[in-house]
Amino acid sequence: MSQKEKLQAKLKENVELSALNTLCVSASARFYIDVTSLDDLRNALAWAQKNGHKTLVLGGGSNLVFAGEFRGLVMRMHIAERSWEQVDETGATLVLGAGENWHDSVLYAAGAGYRGIENLALIPGTAGAAPVQNIGAYGVELCDTLVSVTALDRESNELVCLENADCDFAYRDSLFKRSPGRYIITSIRLRLSRQQPLQLGYQDLKEYLADTASKDLDALTVAEAVMAVRHRKLPDPTILPNAGSFFKNPVVSREKFDELQVKYPDLVGYPKGGSVKLAAAWLIDQSGWKGYRNSRVGVHNRQALVLINHSGGTGQDVLELASQIRQSIHERFGVELEMEPGIVGG
Ligand SMILES: Cc1cc2nc3c(=O)[nH]c(=O)nc-3n(C[C@H](O)[C@H](O)[C@H](O)COP(=O)(O)OP(=O)(O)OC[C@H]3O[C@@H](n4cnc5c(N)ncnc54)[C@H](O)[C@@H]3O)c2cc1C
Repeated sequence: MSQKEKLQAKLKENVELSALNTLCVSASARFYIDVTSLDDLRNALAWAQKNGHKTLVLGGGSNLVFAGEFRGLVMRMHIAERSWEQVDETGATLVLGAGENWHDSVLYAAGAGYRGIENLALIPGTAGAAPVQNIGAYGVELCDTLVSVTALDRESNELVCLENADCDFAYRDSLFKRSPGRYIITSIRLRLSRQQPLQLGYQDLKEYLADTASKDLDALTVAEAVMAVRHRKLPDPTILPNAGSFFKNPVVSREKFDELQVKYPDLVGYPKGGSVKLAAAWLIDQSGWKGYRNSRVGVHNRQALVLINHSGGTGQDVLELASQIRQSIHERFGVELEMEPGIVGG
């Protein structure tokens, strides 16, 4: 079969995406392809360029809001690979294809006795999307272990290897988020350790593991503890459709924090350089949104950062609610909330 015939066989039209995003909002893709190899990716991009269609790389759809139809080509990432490199007595480098399920990969590494990503258990989505917003949880970020990213650079049409420092990682941010569409990640490399100390600084984790003897603590025990804590606190998107934390924690100046603390002595803040990171969940909770719901969408009743699609809500419904919340936080605290998921279509 020629490359052209292969592409034609895989290309679909008018594909419904509600099962492919964790908010379960209805939206369609004008064109759609499952990408399982670098050849698929190159063929799909060439076809889209020739026909003047914009493109979107879709992983697990857990950090996106579909605001309506996507009138271009959705390329769903399935490139599979799991292998080890540079194995020595201190650790090993785990190579993951962009389409690998992130959580399964965490359990795979932890089960093999390697430390470094166990605190990132149960984050939905693919390995290829993990660097985009530099996923983080329980005191660990992807950038702590990431060695390099292999990506197709759409400007040069070449495969490039970007080292950790090239990726310009920050809190829920990276080069990939700041240059949308330019890099399509095909694999990532993570340096994992056999010996590094486990990160147990978070109160919830400490409490959960309080009765576990330190000799019994390993990466898998910690991953399981993270899963248990997350199950208690965060809604399962397969039961209550959501996109995880909908807002980033805002960072304000020390002066602004002091000014707010005079008015709100319980204000939660974490020093960050010369600034202070506020807990967006606290701001939203204080403004009375926790547990709010209208007929279709709402705010989770235990975690104010999570917006829920209760019953047939559209992406526009979710964005309208997000906008009302942002407005009320702005009016009450003079603080701007920034959305974490990307908006697509519409
Ligand atoms: C219940 C729940 C809990 C969550 N908890 C956390 C958490 O604790 N910490 C955290 O950081 N995030 C969390 N998230 C957010 C989300 O899981 C992560 O951002 C995840 O990495 C998104 O992966 P995905 O494959 O679903 O990406 P998608 O939502 O499909 O895509 C996200 C963005 O990445 C781009 N992208 C996807 N794949 C590639 C690729 N191969 N190359 C280039 N660009 C690509 C897309 O175009 C899009 O812009 C949570 C989400 C949910 C629903």
